[in-house]
Amino acid sequence: MLEKLVKTISPYHRCVVLTGAGISAESGVPTFRGKEGLWGKFKPEELATMSAFMANPEVVWEWYNWRRELMENVEPNPGHWAISEMEKWFDEFTLITQNVDGLHRLARTRHIIELHGNIYRNKCADCNQSFEIKDDIDPNNIPRCDKCEGKIRPDVVWFGEMLDSRIIDEAFYQSEHADVFFSVGTSAVVHPAASLPLVAKNHGAVVVEVNIEETPITYLADFHIPSKSGEFLPELIKELKKIDSEG
Ligand code: NAD
Ligand code: ZN
Repeated sequence: MLEKLVKTISPYHRCVVLTGAGISAESGVPTFRGKEGLWGKFKPEELATMSAFMANPEVVWEWYNWRRELMENVEPNPGHWAISEMEKWFDEFTLITQNVDGLHRLARTRHIIELHGNIYRNKCADCNQSFEIKDDIDPNNIPRCDKCEGKIRPDVVWFGEMLDSRIIDEAFYQSEHADVFFSVGTSAVVHPAASLPLVAKNHGAVVVEVNIEETPITYLADFHIPSKSGEFLPELIKELKKIDSEG
């Protein structure tokens, strides 16, 4: 399988990788879905929505403080590092991530589109102004926006919220122009991210899915690799680099 994959993708120049929570699972960040996902314990509708924040901002902040703490103690895993190597290997490369954990940045991938924001940033719930607040937010004393007095919330995209149109347009543009499209560690059910592999496929890309489980996009993938991303991607980049050295 690996040999055939390398042979298929190595002549191409433009690579797009879409990642989801699965890429960070081996770093110890829980996924939302799958057997050990976060949502087993908490319902997303109860926490990651604007209506939840309006009804119970302190509960939502407690949950985000806990998630930030979890993420602060983790590091990129071999899957993140391999993606940075892929960025160097291909002539053109874009990483589109649904993750908010910042691990791709830590692993020094350069061209990153963060679809769902970043858990370390905050913004005003009313006027959207960004706030860099490094410390934990006290759930019982949520800071207010200095412009409009709105409550400060995490700068992530919640369920039911629109994505920034410039960001999503760029993600679609890159997917349409990909020769090779990897979907890594995403359950491919949250749209519009889940449409990107389909868009790439319709525009002629070779689609490769790396996921320990099958997903709604498995049927359209040219290759489905049922492995952990932190195990498979380093193998893949090793093989690609061999081609370079063989000239
Ligand atoms: P998801 O939780 O819905 O799906 C995770 C997928 O990863 C599953 O399909 C699972 O089979 C697969 N997976 C688990 N471990 C894997 C591994 N080691 N290698 C390869 N695949 C593996 O996540 P999603 O598709 O990203 O979508 C849910 C939403 O969750 C996104 O909006 C994202 O913002 C948010 N989220 C982000 C983080 C994070 O930043 N790390 C964590 C949890 C959720
Ligand atoms: Zn404001």
